Amino acid sequence: MGIRRRTFKTEVRQLLDLVVHSLYSNREIFLRELISNASDAIDRARFAALSEASVLEDDPEWVIRITPDREAGTLTVSDNGIGMGPEDIDACIGTIASSGTRKFLAELQERKEAMPPELIGQFGVGFYSAFMVADRVTVTSRHPGDPARGVRWTSEGTGTYAVEEVTREKRGTDVVLHLKEDALEFLDEWRIRKIVKKFSDFVEHPIRMEVTHEEPALDDKGKPIRDAKPTVSRRDETLNSRKALWQRPRSEIAEEDYKQFYRHISHDFQEPFETLHWNVEGTTEFRALVFLPQRPPMDMFIGDERRRGIQLYVRRVFITDNCEELAPLYLRFLRGVVDSSDLPLNVSREMLQEHRAVRLIRSNLVKKVLDTLADMLAKDRERYERFWREFGPILKEGIHIDLENREKLQELALFGSTATAAGAFTSLAEYVKRMPESQKDIFYITAENRGAAEASPHLEALRSRGLEVLFLTDPIDEWVVQGLTNYQGRPLRSVARGDIDLDTEEEKKDKEPERKEAEARFKTLIEKIREILGDKVKEVRLSQRLTESACCLVCDEYSIGIQMEKILKAMHQEVPPARRILELNPRHPVLEVMRNLAGNAASADRLRQYTEMLYDQALLTAQLPLEDPLAFTRRVSELMAAQATGTTA
Ligand code: ADP
Repeated sequence: MGIRRRTFKTEVRQLLDLVVHSLYSNREIFLRELISNASDAIDRARFAALSEASVLEDDPEWVIRITPDREAGTLTVSDNGIGMGPEDIDACIGTIASSGTRKFLAELQERKEAMPPELIGQFGVGFYSAFMVADRVTVTSRHPGDPARGVRWTSEGTGTYAVEEVTREKRGTDVVLHLKEDALEFLDEWRIRKIVKKFSDFVEHPIRMEVTHEEPALDDKGKPIRDAKPTVSRRDETLNSRKALWQRPRSEIAEEDYKQFYRHISHDFQEPFETLHWNVEGTTEFRALVFLPQRPPMDMFIGDERRRGIQLYVRRVFITDNCEELAPLYLRFLRGVVDSSDLPLNVSREMLQEHRAVRLIRSNLVKKVLDTLADMLAKDRERYERFWREFGPILKEGIHIDLENREKLQELALFGSTATAAGAFTSLAEYVKRMPESQKDIFYITAENRGAAEASPHLEALRSRGLEVLFLTDPIDEWVVQGLTNYQGRPLRSVARGDIDLDTEEEKKDKEPERKEAEARFKTLIEKIREILGDKVKEVRLSQRLTESACCLVCDEYSIGIQMEKILKAMHQEVPPARRILELNPRHPVLEVMRNLAGNAASADRLRQYTEMLYDQALLTAQLPLEDPLAFTRRVSELMAAQATGTTA
């Protein structure tokens, strides 16, 4: 037939243009694409050979071969798969078959500038990615059968290609890349080995390369001879481990295999904490091998951590380890592999976002992990608590963001409380079980740590009634409870917020005269305190919650909590000035002292001093910074001195 010169279809030219000009940052993926094609071709030949043994010819061992040739400046990827012939090569690599690719290109056309290169790099460009590294590509190929029916295809990737019929001894395909000047690094044995490991380690067929092996010259005692030239030999090496562990049935896999695999993908030195290996068949088909580590990696708590630990494979070909859609952020500590049979190999990021299969995998994966944890909580509390100590702060985020699984996540949450020993936990279910019948709400307090929570004056009234209070001591807890407004219909209520009212109607009636009396008694004092503090507080009132302390600060139902304010301030965020309510304990003797001062115009200065000290005390018990610590200490010293000399102002 001679040499025919053909023009690529428009869409191929668009793709080539993209490949050559935009994909630069990720160009090592060309090898993944070519190996993946080779592997597919072998899969197809192997399938054909099942019914037609002649397909095997005299070359029955399936193999992919990589051959770097430094002198020629070429890198060749060969396979003994199904091959291409003169009749179908145009259809194979002159057009674009995949509709996904076409859709992607159309989209790209629309928003060319807006597409960042990393994003494009995630997209499988298939065979054409060869032009990222090569300025000329030659493909020689033939189907099983007649050696004379081979084909050679050549292109510079600029718009046209040439095809000629050739004789080819062996079945299969050679893709020869004439590397660009700036791509000669891909001739490096070491570099090739690394790329294969990274992207194609679990390809089922062996990927072989002839590597240079140096043997040091040895003397007759077997010791290396100094300055002697080593014996250089060439030998074949299989670059991929070929262990698609997740594809094998559980029963065939030794614990040690799992451990090794975990270390391989997680780079963790420890063993996995838990190994989940399952497959799903039906509407969507995939296999998953997912690990829970013992401990979170260092960078786990950085909020903008985008990388996910789950690698996505499509039929054993690595696609991405950065698929946000595969697992929710609050499971970012998972490590593992999901291998789908429902996704196309050249799936783009955009497609991943929308693909039904990905959504199904995600919800199945979340369910699997949460169910496993629930089971562990029920059956091995000690082990679950170990998990919770490490990952609770991350998992909890889900309560706020994952509406669909909120109920499950609530069951998994553990807290310290007034009813647990230090370091021990209660679940919400256990808390509810202990609630007396009259208790309607689940009470909690947010604080920096257990000690601070226990010391908080907000606890006094509840403690005196024997009511349990949960300690929310993780920095994110205040945010988490915003999503946890109630548990099994029982509202969660901060003891540091709003008006806490623990009395029954009857008790209220009994206390009414006392309350009225106190209000009348301290009316003037409260007005004066309000005047002195001005903008610092929103309100000053008598307290129902204090039994021991003189005062405390209370948030209203809607303002940001004290813990949240501290966190935001620590992050140097702009925090709107939170004006809180100052509550005073009418039974505390200091109030009586201040009432006397308020009744005497000559004591105005002293009342001001006392008021400011009272407010500072409230700040201190809330572990908030004092506005003027120097003034506070000065006042305390003055007071101590006055006490000692018995003077009064
Ligand atoms: P995809 O692999 O997504 O179909 P490619 O552009 O990588 O897209 O390849 C296009 C087509 O070329 C393949 O579908 C296949 O038919 C053919 N092809 C590519 N490489 C080989 C190969 N090594 N052996 C046989 N056929 C191949």
